[in-house]
Amino acid sequence: MTFSAPASSISIHWIRRDMRMEDNRTLLSAMQTNKPVLVAFIFDQNILSQLDNPEDRRVTFIHQELAKLQQQLEKFGSTLHVGYGEPEAVWRQWLRDFEQAGIHIDSVHVGRDYEPYAQTRDRALASLFEQHGIGFKGVKDHVIFEKSQVTKDDGLPYTVFTPYSKKWRKALTPHDYAAADSLDRCSKQTLVQRDHLSTGALPTLASMGFRPVERAHEWIPDKTIQRQILKSYGDKRDFPAVAGTSRLSLHLRFGTVSIREALRAGLQHSEKWTTELIWRDFYQSIIYHFPHSATDSFRPAYDAIPWDNNEAHFAAWCEGRTGYPLVDAGMRELVQTGFMHNRVRMVVASFLCKHLLTDWRWGERFFARHLLDFDLASNAGGWQWAAGSGCDAAPYFRVFNPTAQFDKFDKDKAYVRKWVPEYGTSQYPEPIVDHATARIRAIETYKSVLKPV
Ligand SMILES: Cc1cc2nc3c(=O)[nH]c(=O)nc-3n(C[C@H](O)[C@H](O)[C@H](O)COP(=O)(O)OP(=O)(O)OC[C@H]3O[C@@H](n4cnc5c(N)ncnc54)[C@H](O)[C@@H]3O)c2cc1C
Repeated sequence: MTFSAPASSISIHWIRRDMRMEDNRTLLSAMQTNKPVLVAFIFDQNILSQLDNPEDRRVTFIHQELAKLQQQLEKFGSTLHVGYGEPEAVWRQWLRDFEQAGIHIDSVHVGRDYEPYAQTRDRALASLFEQHGIGFKGVKDHVIFEKSQVTKDDGLPYTVFTPYSKKWRKALTPHDYAAADSLDRCSKQTLVQRDHLSTGALPTLASMGFRPVERAHEWIPDKTIQRQILKSYGDKRDFPAVAGTSRLSLHLRFGTVSIREALRAGLQHSEKWTTELIWRDFYQSIIYHFPHSATDSFRPAYDAIPWDNNEAHFAAWCEGRTGYPLVDAGMRELVQTGFMHNRVRMVVASFLCKHLLTDWRWGERFFARHLLDFDLASNAGGWQWAAGSGCDAAPYFRVFNPTAQFDKFDKDKAYVRKWVPEYGTSQYPEPIVDHATARIRAIETYKSVLKPV
């Protein structure tokens, strides 16, 4: 990369979980330095190397969204500056390039990320930038409230959702969800101009070891916040055969939709839906304050559970052939589309931990591999809720009955018939475990290592 730029001092907006230009507080922060802004992205090899499927849908999604951003930036005469590698190595290279070109980086602006890996990465980069005299500014963009903004009166983080959500609602002011005018401020004057730098094109997926996943329009949900869905959310959200939820999780995960835009719609149309956005903040706060909960039980006593971890049972669960129709439909939907309805996520997770007595981490990793909206905080939170080991979890003796859940939430069997076409025929397997026996085994096993509640 070289510059022939007149701009001698620039600011950089390094995109991570905020892949959009509109209502973006990080981009706005970079613009407020009054230096020309360069928008940058790094394909992080530390993350990509953990993806074992060359047709990982999320990589295709990110690539497509970056191409759109690049087009958007080009309309202002700018472009997206893209790297591929380990972030620290990429930044070291970039710093050398900029220095050689006589360009001073005033500051790098990032949306704060609360996951353990991101925290470690950003700490290392903060010290690198400091050595070079470059400002490193973390901005709250991904959540409404972060870190210790909503805490108990004694300043400690909440570990129970209901009081957290009450305090969250009490603390909320219009400023917290006001739209940032980042896109309105974009112009040839505020963005670094493309003519002034020769920067690499967006790397191809193939060059990073991935292949594009076709028919993206079939599996990438619409970004539009459907007001009609929000209005009937309270009544329809639990029925997987119905289009009753927003399907925004992928976009909120990568910031292709602003959380503040989502909240503005929620406040207008649905209290219940707003509560789900608060759950999202809650889990981000939990992972920030209790990073061990990403991999270990939030309640350490649960790490003593003698899991059965039967590999044949786990394979049946992964492949959707447990003989429990709602579980099988959910698992097949997940593997085929990258999505699973929340009600079904709860049922399949409970089934794995309780009926099959399998370590929640096995399920959590399987979801991590397949979910388009995979987000460590919400995923570990959801799994630990189901396993009973989480901060605000289902009690261990509460064991969902997967048949009763099927009867209640997929009464006319439309969801199951869609994903399990052989349901009701001799091709469909018998249940791999008996519900009543498995339930008692789960409760007894949990009880053997936990103090009575
Ligand atoms: C075992 C398990 C694993 C999960 N893993 C993830 C995950 O990796 N990523 C993820 O985004 N959600 C996860 N969830 C939460 C939830 O299932 C999904 O957010 C939701 O199904 C996404 O569909 P939607 O966008 O239509 O949600 P909607 O019902 O329309 O909700 C709106 C938004 O609120 C947020 N949200 C909703 N429910 C929750 C919740 N329980 N916890 C945190 N945020 C929530 C999401 O951002 C969602 O897009 C998990 C739940 C369980 C039980």
